[in-house]
Amino acid sequence: MPVPLTLGEALERAGHLDRADPLGRYRDLFVAPEAQDAAAAAARPADSIVAYLDGNSLGRPLLSTADTLSAFVRDAWGSRLIRGWDEGWLQLPTVIGDELAAAALGAAPGQTMIGDSTTVLLYKAIRAAVDARPGRTEIVVDSDNFPTDRYIVEGIAAERGLTVRWIETSPRLGLTAELLAEAVGERTAVVVASQVAYRSGYLADVEALTRITHDAGALIVWDLCHSAGSVPILLDEWQVDIAVGCTYKYLNGGPGSPAFLYVRHELQPQLRQPIWGWLGHAEPFAMGPGYDSAPGIRSFQSGTPPVIGMLAMRDMIALIGTAGIPAVRAKSVALTELTIELADAWLTPFGVEVASPRQSDGRGSHVTLDHPRFREVVAALWQTGVVPDFRAPEGLRVGLSPLSTSFTETVLGLAAIREALEPAA
Ligand SMILES: *Cc1c(COP(=O)(O)O)cnc(C)c1O
Repeated sequence: MPVPLTLGEALERAGHLDRADPLGRYRDLFVAPEAQDAAAAAARPADSIVAYLDGNSLGRPLLSTADTLSAFVRDAWGSRLIRGWDEGWLQLPTVIGDELAAAALGAAPGQTMIGDSTTVLLYKAIRAAVDARPGRTEIVVDSDNFPTDRYIVEGIAAERGLTVRWIETSPRLGLTAELLAEAVGERTAVVVASQVAYRSGYLADVEALTRITHDAGALIVWDLCHSAGSVPILLDEWQVDIAVGCTYKYLNGGPGSPAFLYVRHELQPQLRQPIWGWLGHAEPFAMGPGYDSAPGIRSFQSGTPPVIGMLAMRDMIALIGTAGIPAVRAKSVALTELTIELADAWLTPFGVEVASPRQSDGRGSHVTLDHPRFREVVAALWQTGVVPDFRAPEGLRVGLSPLSTSFTETVLGLAAIREALEPAA
């Protein structure tokens, strides 16, 4: 395929790709799809969305979610009131957890729940895992893992008198099997790793890293925030111990929607999470004197589940289930490949470097581009409705959410980045 030299050629090609896209019709299911061509985009208000390239940070809402939420307020909350807890709300964390597990996690029922934030679930999961490996003194984590993951590890190490074993990883790559194999051993209690690196988009080999961890006798906690809903995940088959992830990124649960937690069946009886609340109790409504943990995944619950916060993700989980992760992944790869091709053709002349893996099988659903001017460039682009995001020191992330991002939108976004880098005439 020829390198698209002009915007017109690139838009023409993107138009073909959009028309041939088997997932293209899903875009109409989201609120306010952006203008489909440059002329339509120009006719809209100055900061209305031209290209939304941050679905890896906050997914778009589905149109149906407006109805889901208002129906819940009127028909469920409004008319069932307190009776609603007995009529299904209390079961929602595991009901929606199982729906997510089937649609996007490759996990059998009974191992996944929704609740708390990713940060809090990481704390519960890592604390429980560390305590299940008494006598072992190290938690292994890489230096470029997401800040909250690193801070939680530091906090737990301080609390339990453990040592953090840092693996120095390149911000343009991530945690490789070689690096992990060098770091783990008989001192390792727990490894904490991200499937897709939030900065570079590097896609880790979950199965291989899990095996290396198990060979050392340790447990592994996977962070799936930047992967769930966009890349294939087979938690059961890969024998993952524990996984945690956000639902407001590729799962479109809305700002602050609660996170998910997976704990492998066999491990559930061995793990004891540290926040003993009444809803993790075997008999919450007995209101008894001492804590007696519920069996199964429900033992990881602490307090009242965030019911309203769980509703939006349910619509998106159903959509992902219908589309199927293989089709979602195929479009994600096509979108990131187009982004890298355009970056090479249009942005490298301005000194931009591709900071994500170039092999699609080693990359998630976002592409990071580096340039010293990207902080100001991103701020300016936001004013014009082109919305990627910025990650220090100089990374512009192009996040491509396969069910809601079009090829045309991607071309318009990359063209706007080029324009912002061009010296003023
Ligand atoms: C987005 C993200 C988080 C966010 O955690 P919150 O508790 O939801 O703020 C954590 N880890 C990773 C890898 C992320 O990408």
